[in-house]
Amino acid sequence: MFKHGKIWENRVTSNSDTAHFLSLHDGSQPHSAWQVCKHLPRLKKASHFLVRLCALWRPGNLPGTCRLCGTEFQDVLTHALCQCVVNELFRDNLWCALINLGPIELSVNLHQLTDCDLVTCLLSCKPPMDADAELVRHFAETVTTELYKLDKLITISKPFQ
Ligand SMILES: [Zn+2]
Repeated sequence: MFKHGKIWENRVTSNSDTAHFLSLHDGSQPHSAWQVCKHLPRLKKASHFLVRLCALWRPGNLPGTCRLCGTEFQDVLTHALCQCVVNELFRDNLWCALINLGPIELSVNLHQLTDCDLVTCLLSCKPPMDADAELVRHFAETVTTELYKLDKLITISKPFQ
């Protein structure tokens, strides 16, 4: 029994899908976006959208050309969130909402992340540092609310089809 458990554990820990899943989820608990939805039912659609993004997103898995700015990208979500010049207003609003959460350490830590790590951080709904429960909750609520605006942006402009 122990031998099979060890083999399974080795397979799971070396599996890239598992590593990706664990970068976005706690593993044993529902995703943070669902916990936001539990406290703020009005964010149910936003939570659903964010969890859908988690299921679809893999760094660099969907290269293409943006119809909005004409730039080639390695993955559509990283481009939309961090690089597309046409989405600057969305990005400015996202950063303003995150900065307004308070501690300067949060802004500094977010700005130090690579684009890919920033997308991972946002999709996980967890601040990139140790934080008290109130900041963790507000971060998750803010990210869930702001990323849902991306759904409308994509629906309206259909830049990546
Ligand atoms: Zn673009």
